[in-house]
Amino acid sequence: MSKLSDRIVNLAESQTLAMTKKSRELQAAGKDIINLSIGEPDFDTPDFVKEAAKKAIDENYTHYTPVAGYLELRKAISEKFKRDNGLTYTADQVVVSTGAKQSIANVILSLVNPGEEVIVPIPYWVSYIETIKLAEGIPVTLPTNIDTNFKISAEQLRKAITPKTKMLVFSTPCNPSGSVYTKEELKALAEVIVSFPDLYVISDEIYEHINFGGKHESLAQFDFVYDRVITVNGVSKGFAMTGWRIGFIGAPKWISDACEKMQGQFTSGTSSISQMAALAAMKASPEVTVEMCKEFRKRRDLVLAQLSEIPGIKTNIPQGAFYIFINIESYFGKGFEKYSIRNSNDLSMYLLEVGNVALVSGDAFGDDNCIRFSYATSEVKLVEAVKRVKEALLKLK
Ligand code: PMP
Ligand code: GLU
Repeated sequence: MSKLSDRIVNLAESQTLAMTKKSRELQAAGKDIINLSIGEPDFDTPDFVKEAAKKAIDENYTHYTPVAGYLELRKAISEKFKRDNGLTYTADQVVVSTGAKQSIANVILSLVNPGEEVIVPIPYWVSYIETIKLAEGIPVTLPTNIDTNFKISAEQLRKAITPKTKMLVFSTPCNPSGSVYTKEELKALAEVIVSFPDLYVISDEIYEHINFGGKHESLAQFDFVYDRVITVNGVSKGFAMTGWRIGFIGAPKWISDACEKMQGQFTSGTSSISQMAALAAMKASPEVTVEMCKEFRKRRDLVLAQLSEIPGIKTNIPQGAFYIFINIESYFGKGFEKYSIRNSNDLSMYLLEVGNVALVSGDAFGDDNCIRFSYATSEVKLVEAVKRVKEALLKLK
């Protein structure tokens, strides 16, 4: 019997991080791997943000911070919510955490009781399901498909709600599908949500600034549902600050209070230096993120054009984030040498070992018919990666 707790034994490893670890190990062993498994911008953090961090060190921002984050930062986030999203969250409705990942864990652990159901549309970001299970909640997944751009309908949501449902968790723009819900689609979901008084929603908007369709739409903008929504965001994606570990929520005060209490026992306030860096990012005009978004769009178009030359795969046109969720099911049942492909895991291992490209199996996101391709890397590497994927796939008979 394991000496470890049931909790950790039953916890699945993050597949995005596991694949990245594996490709780093292969790279260290001298293999020429193109790593498209971790979803992070390849751009450097903007200089003005780095300068703010250096200044913070020199000015001795080196002590414990308030658990929910410096007041100055929470005020700037509150202004950001107003300026960019039309949302009113006062500074005491904001909690800054060690990445949006912790923000999401704080909310789920603060709201979900054992046995309560949490609805999660497929495909979902890897960590939602495991965090729900840690809270002893029951994930209830909703299928979608490529023809509906991997989005759920309001009717589908309504049908999934039971007396045990506590929460809905979803992202827009979505990791891994790149789907973006329109204002009308969000309103239709909000109308369902509001008719169930005990239902709360995590609206994960971390890819807000990587949206090719124009203006980002927040679920909490609809006044009638505002007090049921926890808006999650952060600086990792939009400002290329993954390593700084800053995420945040805007939420009804009783929920932000609970998250602060939770965080006070787990980690306290996040890094003082990172907070001062994030302050600079929050105060900057959102214009600073536009160039990066344009670059992602160019890469998306490039990769989609190249992928269209590979037989047997299907893609839609993702409207945001930096992923393409490729349908690869026509390769199931095929093989090459010692490899036989039965599922998306087999295919991702095959592409890693034979093609030297690291992607993440769709299984990790709840859809075994797909594989996630991140285009957050240079055009040269992307072109080479698609070429390798094509060559490897063509070997499968
Ligand atoms: N939500 C989604 C949908 C993500 O893709 C990520 C990226 N890992 C996160 C949350 C967490 O981001 P971070 O912890 O870096 O702020
Ligand atoms: N969000 C990124 C991804 O999906 C980072 C890795 C992670 O934290 O899961 O690849």
